[in-house]
Order: sequence, then C-alpha cells, then structure tokens
Amino acid sequence: MEKNNQRICKRCFLKDIAPEEYLESMRTYLDGLDEEIKADKQLYEERLKECESCENLREGICRICGCFVEYRAAIKIRKCPAIHPRW
Ligand code: SF4
Repeated sequence: MEKNNQRICKRCFLKDIAPEEYLESMRTYLDGLDEEIKADKQLYEERLKECESCENLREGICRICGCFVEYRAAIKIRKCPAIHPRW
C-alpha cells in the first residue's frame, strides 16, 4: 500500500503503525475482502452488536480468541469462539 509517496509495509506489527493508519489499514482490509468469503452487511452488524454487549470484548479484541472482532465478524465462516457462541 502506498500513501503520500511513502510505502507502508503490509507485514508490520501494530506497534509500528500509527493509530490513525491502523484504522485505515483495517478499513482497507475489510473493503478488499473477497465477496465470496465476506459476511453480508446485516450479518456483520448483527455479530458486532453481540460482541458489543459481550463481557469478553476488550478494546476491540475478543479475550477468548485474541482476534479483533471486526476482522473475525467480517468472515462469513467464522464463528464466535465462546463455549456458548453468541454468533
Ligand atoms: S466471545 Fe464472541 S461475542 Fe464475545 S467478543 Fe468474542 S467473538 Fe464477540
């Protein structure tokens, strides 16, 4: 990915990415997902609503699987990793 003529490494750790660039990177990733693997908008929103009220959500990360829930919820075949899945 190129931004302001500056190359951004696609394999950087989060600690190496400025917070505002990280958010942009997440949006670019989600927008670029293949439609075949992507959860549709309604399913995605329903999943995030469940995460929002879940005690395992901490700063966008699921404490059970360690995933950023916005990434996990975007993939159609993914499931909530809880013993009693919420989605
Ligand atoms: S346990 Fe399930 S509902 Fe809770 S934050 Fe993780 S993915 Fe979301």
